[in-house]
Amino acid sequence: MMQRALAAVCAWLPFWLRPRYILDLRARSSQWKKIRAQHLIKESACVACGRSRELEVHHIVPVSVDPSRELDENNLITLCADPCHRVFGHFLSYHCYNKNVREMAEYYRWRMQRRICLPAKPVNKDSTHHAN
Ligand SMILES: [Zn+2]
Ligand SMILES: [Zn+2]
Repeated sequence: MMQRALAAVCAWLPFWLRPRYILDLRARSSQWKKIRAQHLIKESACVACGRSRELEVHHIVPVSVDPSRELDENNLITLCADPCHRVFGHFLSYHCYNKNVREMAEYYRWRMQRRICLPAKPVNKDSTHHAN
Protein backbone atom coordinates (compact mmCIF):
# COMPACT_ATOMS: atom_id res chain seq x y z
CA MET A 1 0.00 0.00 0.00
CA MET A 2 0.99 3.61 -0.54
CA GLN A 3 0.93 4.30 3.20
CA ARG A 4 3.26 1.38 3.88
CA ALA A 5 5.71 2.54 1.23
CA LEU A 6 5.67 6.03 2.71
CA ALA A 7 6.23 4.64 6.18
CA ALA A 8 9.15 2.55 4.90
CA VAL A 9 10.78 5.63 3.35
CA CYS A 10 10.27 7.61 6.54
CA ALA A 11 11.87 4.83 8.58
CA TRP A 12 15.18 6.04 7.11
CA LEU A 13 14.72 9.48 8.60
CA PRO A 14 15.79 10.29 12.14
CA PHE A 15 12.62 10.09 14.26
CA TRP A 16 12.55 13.85 14.94
CA LEU A 17 12.31 14.47 11.19
CA ARG A 18 9.43 12.05 10.63
CA PRO A 19 6.03 13.61 10.14
CA ARG A 20 3.77 12.92 13.08
CA TYR A 21 1.16 11.16 10.98
CA ILE A 22 3.75 8.65 9.79
CA LEU A 23 4.45 7.77 13.42
CA ASP A 24 0.71 7.38 13.85
CA LEU A 25 0.67 4.95 10.93
CA ARG A 26 3.45 2.97 12.59
CA ALA A 27 1.53 2.99 15.84
CA ARG A 28 -1.41 1.42 14.04
CA SER A 29 0.63 -1.61 12.98
CA SER A 30 -0.88 -5.03 13.70
CA GLN A 31 1.49 -5.38 16.65
CA TRP A 32 0.16 -2.15 18.16
CA LYS A 33 -3.42 -3.35 17.75
CA LYS A 34 -2.55 -6.49 19.70
CA ILE A 35 -0.68 -4.61 22.47
CA ARG A 36 -3.52 -2.07 22.68
CA ALA A 37 -6.16 -4.81 22.99
CA GLN A 38 -4.12 -6.61 25.66
CA HIS A 39 -3.72 -3.36 27.58
CA LEU A 40 -7.47 -2.69 27.45
CA ILE A 41 -8.18 -6.15 28.90
CA LYS A 42 -5.75 -5.46 31.76
CA GLU A 43 -6.85 -1.86 32.31
CA SER A 44 -10.44 -1.69 31.13
CA ALA A 45 -11.53 1.66 32.54
CA CYS A 46 -10.25 5.22 32.54
CA VAL A 47 -7.61 5.39 35.29
CA ALA A 48 -8.63 8.95 36.14
CA CYS A 49 -12.45 8.88 36.19
CA GLY A 50 -13.29 5.18 36.11
CA ARG A 51 -15.66 5.35 33.16
CA SER A 52 -15.37 2.71 30.48
CA ARG A 53 -16.68 4.46 27.39
CA GLU A 54 -14.63 6.04 24.58
CA LEU A 55 -11.40 4.63 25.95
CA GLU A 56 -8.04 5.48 24.48
CA VAL A 57 -4.68 3.88 25.16
CA HIS A 58 -2.33 6.81 25.68
CA HIS A 59 1.45 6.74 25.33
CA ILE A 60 2.85 8.41 28.45
CA VAL A 61 6.02 9.39 26.58
CA PRO A 62 4.80 10.09 23.03
CA VAL A 63 5.96 7.85 20.20
CA SER A 64 7.31 10.97 18.47
CA VAL A 65 9.63 11.56 21.46
CA ASP A 66 10.73 7.95 22.01
CA PRO A 67 9.71 5.51 19.26
CA SER A 68 11.37 2.65 21.14
CA ARG A 69 8.61 2.83 23.78
CA GLU A 70 5.74 2.53 21.31
CA LEU A 71 4.90 -1.03 22.37
CA ASP A 72 6.22 -0.78 25.95
CA GLU A 73 3.42 -1.76 28.32
CA ASN A 74 4.91 0.50 31.03
CA ASN A 75 4.46 3.45 28.69
CA LEU A 76 0.70 2.95 28.32
CA ILE A 77 -2.29 4.14 30.30
CA THR A 78 -6.03 3.83 29.65
CA LEU A 79 -7.87 7.15 29.62
CA CYS A 80 -11.27 8.20 28.31
CA ALA A 81 -11.06 10.45 25.26
CA ASP A 82 -12.57 13.48 26.89
CA PRO A 83 -11.75 14.97 29.28
CA CYS A 84 -9.15 12.67 30.86
CA HIS A 85 -6.93 11.95 27.85
CA ARG A 86 -6.96 15.60 26.85
CA VAL A 87 -6.48 16.98 30.36
CA PHE A 88 -4.28 14.46 32.21
CA GLY A 89 -2.45 13.02 29.21
CA HIS A 90 -1.80 16.23 27.33
CA PHE A 91 -2.64 19.26 29.51
CA LEU A 92 -5.17 20.38 26.84
CA SER A 93 -2.67 20.40 23.97
CA TYR A 94 -1.68 17.39 21.90
CA HIS A 95 1.68 19.11 21.40
CA CYS A 96 2.33 18.56 25.11
CA TYR A 97 2.49 15.57 27.40
CA ASN A 98 2.43 14.83 31.09
CA LYS A 99 5.13 12.43 32.25
CA ASN A 100 3.37 12.09 35.63
CA VAL A 101 0.01 11.18 34.06
CA ARG A 102 -0.40 7.89 35.94
CA GLU A 103 0.33 9.41 39.31
CA MET A 104 -2.03 12.33 38.65
CA ALA A 105 -4.80 10.16 37.20
CA GLU A 106 -4.65 7.77 40.16
CA TYR A 107 -4.75 10.68 42.61
CA TYR A 108 -7.71 12.22 40.79
CA ARG A 109 -9.57 8.90 40.92
CA TRP A 110 -8.82 8.53 44.64
CA ARG A 111 -10.09 12.06 45.26
CA MET A 112 -13.15 11.57 43.04
CA GLN A 113 -14.16 8.47 44.99
CA ARG A 114 -14.15 10.66 48.11
CA ARG A 115 -15.99 13.58 46.60
CA ILE A 116 -18.67 15.27 48.64
CA CYS A 117 -22.05 15.37 46.97
CA LEU A 118 -24.96 17.61 47.91
CA PRO A 119 -28.14 15.84 48.93
CA ALA A 120 -30.54 15.38 46.02
CA LYS A 121 -33.24 18.04 45.88
CA PRO A 122 -36.61 17.70 44.24
CA VAL A 123 -36.43 19.23 40.78
CA ASN A 124 -38.65 22.24 40.19
CA LYS A 125 -39.03 24.40 37.14
CA ASP A 126 -36.89 27.23 38.59
CA SER A 127 -34.03 24.95 39.60
CA THR A 128 -31.72 26.28 36.90
CA HIS A 129 -31.94 29.78 38.35
CA HIS A 130 -30.61 28.98 41.83
CA ALA A 131 -33.41 30.88 43.52
CA ASN A 132 -31.70 30.99 46.94
ZN1 LIG B 1 -11.79 9.56 32.20
ZN1 LIG C 1 -2.27 10.72 24.28
